[in-house]
Amino acid sequence: MRHVVHSGMSTGMTTNGFLLTEDKLGRAHRPGHGAHSDLNRWPEPVAGNPKSLRTLRNKIDMVARRGLWFYVAAVLCPETLDEVIPLAEHCFDLGVPIFFSVVHERGRLQPGPFNERYLQKLHWLRQKKREGKPISNPYYLIRYFERALAGRPMRWTCRGGNKAFYVSPEGNFQYCYHVAPLRPFAQVTAQDIRNSRGRKGCEDGCGVDCMIRTSLPFSNRAWVIGHEMAERARRLGSRLG
Ligand code: SF4
Repeated sequence: MRHVVHSGMSTGMTTNGFLLTEDKLGRAHRPGHGAHSDLNRWPEPVAGNPKSLRTLRNKIDMVARRGLWFYVAAVLCPETLDEVIPLAEHCFDLGVPIFFSVVHERGRLQPGPFNERYLQKLHWLRQKKREGKPISNPYYLIRYFERALAGRPMRWTCRGGNKAFYVSPEGNFQYCYHVAPLRPFAQVTAQDIRNSRGRKGCEDGCGVDCMIRTSLPFSNRAWVIGHEMAERARRLGSRLG
């Protein structure tokens, strides 16, 4: 992280927070460093997956007290549905941004009996964002998930490999974590990056939020701008009464 910051870029760290201490935070907290706490499937600790709001609340509070740039990432899934609102409200009280994604399996959203409840939570989040609560999801990403869950998916072009990419622990260059490697990262050329602009063929049903968020402003620019402007106008209107 120091090397990246000294190179003039910014960096961040994803952590489940369990091993964070005041001392470690003090050493990690430098300008240009950020973090997000990944509370994937967090409501109650369960065997094999002890992440939970209950166990991590103190850690969230500890990081928030530091003033570290920080957000909480949570995944809407069957196990978290009942805890979404308490978690979000806890973060609102602290002024900590929260980001939500929808559970996927190997990059694919899973149509099923929970879709209606996911949609209800997304509507709630959209409303809270309109009220000015610190929700990091752009409106267009919320809309992407709403449409996909309602069976009206958007047509878009994934810009994986072009605007963002994944490097595997083995050093391979991939469009995202969920697809096969293209080639060793060390051999990637500028032409490879340019060639990665086109459709990948797996966009329908994709749930890889980071890549969707990165791609839509390029592949659906007019729609994204229009949607964000309309939502901001609504938010302003509701504030002015
Ligand atoms: S559309 Fe892009 S992000 Fe989604 S699974 Fe395919 S390559 Fe990965």
